[in-house]
Formats: sequence, C-alpha cells, structure tokens
Amino acid sequence: MDKDCLFCKIIAGEIPSAKVYEDDAVFAFKDISPIAPTHYLFVPKTHICCAKKITAENSQYVAKIFEAIAKVSEQENIESYRVINNCGEDAGQSVMHLHFHLVAGKKMGWGEQSLG
Ligand code: 5GP
Ligand code: ZN
Repeated sequence: MDKDCLFCKIIAGEIPSAKVYEDDAVFAFKDISPIAPTHYLFVPKTHICCAKKITAENSQYVAKIFEAIAKVSEQENIESYRVINNCGEDAGQSVMHLHFHLVAGKKMGWGEQSLG
C-alpha cells in the first residue's frame, strides 16, 4: 500500500467506492466519471504505478485482472466491451496505480478520431 495513492485508499476502504468485484488479487469499482453506460476500473491489490512496471514477478496480477474482467462481463451479460490502459501523462493516466478501464454499453469508434 502506498499511503498517498488514491486507489490504494479505495482498496483499503479508506475512501468509499461502488465495488463491483473483489478477490485476493483484484479489486474493481465503478468509475466516478463514467464515459459510457458501463465503466468499471480493475486494479491490482498491490501498488504498481503503471504498465511500465509490469514484470515477471508481478504480471500474475494482470492475468488475474483479465480473468476478473471475463467473469464480471459474463455475470452482467456484457457482450461487447473495450479494455483500456492509459500509461503515462500524454496517454491520459491521471492516477498512478495500474488500472484497466472496462467500458461498454455504447457503440464505440475506432481509429485516429477516437484518440481525441
Ligand atoms: P486514468 O485517467 O488514470 O486512466 O483513469 C483514472 C480514472 O479514475 C478516471 O476515469 C477517473 O474518473 C477515475 N477516478 C478518479 N478519482 C476517482 C475516485 O475517487 N473514485 C472513483 N470511483 N473513480 C475515480
Ligand atoms: Zn496504489
């Protein structure tokens, strides 16, 4: 746990969140500013700042996150979805605790225009 990290505080329950899933390695909750009808954040229960710091020692958290995404989307009958990871400031990462956005419930564009 990083005492200055927003998502570590959410995982610890120090800051409230709308939880959608939890297991020994993964915590998932609703995004506070959703960009689609369904917008969840999946985070590892250990502090990893960003995708750049994924290694052979911690990559099991990423595998567990994708297993959790598959479980939640099946339980909620989400047929089609997009998983997004923003890594670094120019890519739009605003919280420095690794997280994957699960976005669904609307038709999504693809290509350069969808990058804003
Ligand atoms: P990023 O921009 O780093 O890829 O994604 C961070 C996400 O965290 C944003 O979509 C933002 O809306 C969400 N977020 C920021 N603060 C909070 C919060 O306190 N609670 C929740 N549930 N989501 C948050
Ligand atoms: Zn953290």
